[in-house]
Amino acid sequence: MRYDDKDEWLEERLTRHDGWIKEGKIPTSSKVIPLRESLSGQQWVLPTQQVYEIIRNARSFALAPCGCRTRYQRCDNPLEVCLYINDVADKMVVEGKARNISLDEAKERLKLANEHGLVHLTFYKPDQFIYALCSCCKCCCHDLQFMTKYHRPDLIAHADYVAEVDPSACLQCGTCVERCVFGAQGNNGEAVVFNENKCYGCGLCVTTCPSGAIRMKLRRG
Ligand code: SF4
Ligand code: SF4
Ligand code: SF4
Repeated sequence: MRYDDKDEWLEERLTRHDGWIKEGKIPTSSKVIPLRESLSGQQWVLPTQQVYEIIRNARSFALAPCGCRTRYQRCDNPLEVCLYINDVADKMVVEGKARNISLDEAKERLKLANEHGLVHLTFYKPDQFIYALCSCCKCCCHDLQFMTKYHRPDLIAHADYVAEVDPSACLQCGTCVERCVFGAQGNNGEAVVFNENKCYGCGLCVTTCPSGAIRMKLRRG
């Protein structure tokens, strides 16, 4: 299916998530989680650990192929990066759709996702709350398509962090513009410019900036 084609599956999913939010069953459809590697320094240790704590504290977790990339096939990003949690994980393992893995392998999968510029999202559903920790691409992910195709950025919650750029250290290489799927890093024709209002705090731009000009800070308010 081409990106601009009518997508009834995606529209049905959008309507369902909208309904859950209106009924107060979930806060948003998903929330951005910053890359572990983008957060450094003592003050970030606790929040960074929280990413892994979601998995570590889960009763069970399992790795499955990415349903969105399998469905849409618009890129060649890695497929085995979807981590499901607790009841959803158990059900998928029983059905042969996922396999239990160690925490170390889960960490390796998240690292692989970072190398490929994939955004970490936690997904919510009624009853279980967080049920998946996914690593998503702009072209196939259903939630990122809610934002890009249906203009519903409100369905994705911002991370608790936001990028901060030091213009004096910037080499104008443009790598962050390529990495940012949210359009917060852009080029005005003369220079690379950062728009904090568009930043969801994924951290993808931080890990590949050659001059270390970008860091993550806690989001205010
Ligand atoms: S939400 Fe993300 S990782 Fe999960 S299936 Fe969709 S694109 Fe793949
Ligand atoms: S990746 Fe770093 S050095 Fe390159 S344009 Fe972005 S901020 Fe500047
Ligand atoms: S500027 Fe873009 S890539 Fe960087 S943290 Fe914000 S949303 Fe992520």
